[in-house]
Amino acid sequence: MIRSAVLVLLAALAAQAIPQTDIDKLYPSIEALYIDLHTNPELAFQEKQTAAKLASRLKTLGYEVTTGIGGTGIVGILKNGAGPVVMLRTELDALPVNEQTGLPFASKTNGVMHACGHDLHMAAWSGTAQWMAEHSAQWHGTLMMVGQPAEETGAGAAAMLKDGLFTRFTKPDFAIGLHDDDTLPAGQIGYHAGFFRAAIDQPTVTIFGRGGHGAMPQNTVDPVVIAARTILTWQTIVSRENDPQKPVVITVGSIHGGTKSNIIPDQVQLQLSVRTFDPEVRKRVLAAIARIAKGEADAAGAPREPSIELSGSAEAVYNDPGLTARLAAALVKGMGAANVVEMPAKMTSEDFCEYGRAGVKAVLLHIGAVDPVKLAESRKTGIPVPAPHSPQWAPVREPTLKAAVLAETTALLNLLN
Ligand code: ZN
Repeated sequence: MIRSAVLVLLAALAAQAIPQTDIDKLYPSIEALYIDLHTNPELAFQEKQTAAKLASRLKTLGYEVTTGIGGTGIVGILKNGAGPVVMLRTELDALPVNEQTGLPFASKTNGVMHACGHDLHMAAWSGTAQWMAEHSAQWHGTLMMVGQPAEETGAGAAAMLKDGLFTRFTKPDFAIGLHDDDTLPAGQIGYHAGFFRAAIDQPTVTIFGRGGHGAMPQNTVDPVVIAARTILTWQTIVSRENDPQKPVVITVGSIHGGTKSNIIPDQVQLQLSVRTFDPEVRKRVLAAIARIAKGEADAAGAPREPSIELSGSAEAVYNDPGLTARLAAALVKGMGAANVVEMPAKMTSEDFCEYGRAGVKAVLLHIGAVDPVKLAESRKTGIPVPAPHSPQWAPVREPTLKAAVLAETTALLNLLN
């Protein structure tokens, strides 16, 4: 009786967190990987070298590794007796951004940068894979390490699922992911139950007019003026049509029309990014965008209706509330309450949503990656620090990487015990 109670207690203690000395020992190897990945970024679905580097590390550690899933995706499986199957996902891809961090190990590929921190995710993921493989006596079940391509285009998770991620391999009981964050100090974990990252739709709207000489507007229907009015009226969807308790963002990120100052063009193309959480709100907002585009064109006497093409859509990320609560409790125990905080939902999007939609209990956690002094200063001045997708995004690497490995191993030990 006493012996079994002691065993239970020992198991509970073992499952809390891995020793800091283990992480310090792993660090030089994952830092080297991080620097290498940061210097040599690859765009969505072109992550061949990146995938090869991760696959080779997993193979050395004894994982069963399969490459080329959904394009450049990789899966590493480590079976360790009976128990649940837990998936840990990292993204592989970089962004078409010209790096301006001034780091000594800045990108060597012109116009491509790990501006979202996926290099950091991969390095931590690899350190976690190593610790779990070297300490298999402390857990049981199956660990499924997934390296996913093309998160930035929103197509990678779907491509891997279509290529049999959950059928050729096994469907996990739980899926977790960790993403770096500009609103938390380096190493702090942020969690949020329920809808956490927004759904995205990216309509392209083409407004048609009648082109002509810039000095004779009376002979034309100017699509530049129609576009200007349309853009402003769209903002009233957010401010006047929508329930302020239900977040919506409508951004027109690109306007293209015309070739020269004295020519009125015959069309203008607008590219939008629309973010919502609530499916009903999403439907209404997209309908309102079409209604207003058509109405403004009508009002201006345009020769034809605007065309609208929808692409690059993704669902909202939904963090399973039960699993979120379980992981938050484990992380508080393993990392201390000060290092684990509840955070607000974000309007950015993530195709991590696909794993939850495929029927797996999934949670995406965030990890702070900003110098705490700079963050405190920015909270005082109201001037934001560089964030993911900025050419200046440079996570504070040592505390962030170390905490990421600690958080991932803590979460995995909790689920695989
Ligand atoms: Zn990202």
